[in-house]
Amino acid sequence: MRVSRRAFVRRSTGLAALLCGAARLAVPSQTLAIEPLPQPSPPRARARLPTRTFTLGRSVSGQPIEATSLGSGPVAVAFIGNIHGGWEPMARVVVDLGLDYFLEHPSEVPPRTTLYFVPTMNPDGYQAGRPLWEDADGTGGTGDVALAWTAFNAHAIDLNRNFPTNWSSDACGGERARLIGGGPCLAGLGGPRPFSEPETRAYRDFILRRNVRWALTYHEDQTPAVLGREGGGGPSEPFALELAELAGYPYVPTTTAYPVTGHAWDWLDAIGVQGAEIELEYRTLDQDFNISAVQLLIERALG
Ligand SMILES: [Zn+2]
Repeated sequence: MRVSRRAFVRRSTGLAALLCGAARLAVPSQTLAIEPLPQPSPPRARARLPTRTFTLGRSVSGQPIEATSLGSGPVAVAFIGNIHGGWEPMARVVVDLGLDYFLEHPSEVPPRTTLYFVPTMNPDGYQAGRPLWEDADGTGGTGDVALAWTAFNAHAIDLNRNFPTNWSSDACGGERARLIGGGPCLAGLGGPRPFSEPETRAYRDFILRRNVRWALTYHEDQTPAVLGREGGGGPSEPFALELAELAGYPYVPTTTAYPVTGHAWDWLDAIGVQGAEIELEYRTLDQDFNISAVQLLIERALG
């Protein structure tokens, strides 16, 4: 069943839902102050290695999903940000700044690799969130509820629940779902079928056509963490463990708060991609670690 955005908005504006969301949103308001975001400088002119910006596909609203590749080697390594749109803007900034770093340090791109940087897989959600950041203060009020919607695409579907591994149309999503519906799960949040959304199809086609075998994906959460396949194990777990140790973040093999379905990283793991999902701490960037994580992934990809 498709999520009815109007129905959820109506429900979420009830006092009980707001109080419920406020009580459960354990994020200090100051951590949600995200203006101004670090802005990467226009980097294209500085590139001294094969560099190409291209479009992976288009969002529901027709916005391009852009990627930049550095290098032209056979080992494809991807850094994929911001599937949760305006709800998690730092998950975009981290990829923008990563690209900026490697354009500044082209000698750090090994000849055998091609690095792909995809700042946002959810451009509609990201754009929808921008005007809301100021009013989303972490109190669980209307600003936070409005921002929670921008975690999804323009069909009100959570793209990170729309992948085929353990997919379910009814799906759960933590704070964003609690703010909107009063609980961790929402009917239809995973979409009508796996890969029903143009953004997730673009994601799939990018990974398969470019033969990406190593990747990092980025989110934000109340506490930083490194994740691999839900439930642990799988080809991505060794790297995830190594990365967690490097970061000093916990490795979280299993989400206990709610069942995880249709998850992008579970699909990546299922097709043999190695790497990890990084949960950045809300509205913060540990850029030294972020660059170290990219460097470690490149090193492991090259064996
Ligand atoms: Zn997320």
